[in-house]
Amino acid sequence: MSFVQMGLKDDILRGIYNYGFEKPSAIQQRAVMPTINGRDVIAQAQSGTGKTSMIALTVCQVVDTASREVQALILSPTRELASQTEKLIRTIDDFMNIQAHACIGGKSVGEDIRKLEHGVHVVSGTPGRVCDMIKWRTLRTRAIKLLILDEYDEMLSRGFKDQIYDVSRHLPPELQVCLISATLPHEILEMTSKFMTDPIRILV
Ligand code: AMP
Repeated sequence: MSFVQMGLKDDILRGIYNYGFEKPSAIQQRAVMPTINGRDVIAQAQSGTGKTSMIALTVCQVVDTASREVQALILSPTRELASQTEKLIRTIDDFMNIQAHACIGGKSVGEDIRKLEHGVHVVSGTPGRVCDMIKWRTLRTRAIKLLILDEYDEMLSRGFKDQIYDVSRHLPPELQVCLISATLPHEILEMTSKFMTDPIRILV
């Protein structure tokens, strides 16, 4: 399957080709379509497989820039990964006007507040800072339709489970969830039964 056959918006295709990608990697071929079609997805994939770009493509496709509310939230185990994902969204979005913001510890809270109040479409962050921003009502969750949990096993081993659940409980009930993990520990079943509906499983 090619990027064109995925039915991506023209501006995303221009962004991808401009970035230098010619054809989708295995995870992109298998996970992008179900996610943009609204399915919950569990993808077992390591880093280096093109999973960050899969996230960026999907998010750019589902966001409606006519609204200035946060519509997609990505949680990652580290500040570096959260920033990398946010940067990639901004790169692919070169021909669109998607506002993405990295909500991570170690950066000024004032900057988060300014950006979020100005209006962003996508937040890529670490569970702790995102949780704080939601509790302080700086990050408004009512329009979030897609939650992406990247490197879920790594987030669990860093002790983020309670914060992830806290964040998930603040999101709208009709939420779509895409979970990406290198391994599938049994705690994933708990996440699946609490917050996911009939997920498709993809092994890359
Ligand atoms: P990731 O797993 O998303 O961090 O991607 C690993 C590396 O593969 C990065 O250097 C990406 O730029 C590259 N990459 C991801 N998807 C593609 C693709 N479809 N074509 C060529 N390179 C890619």
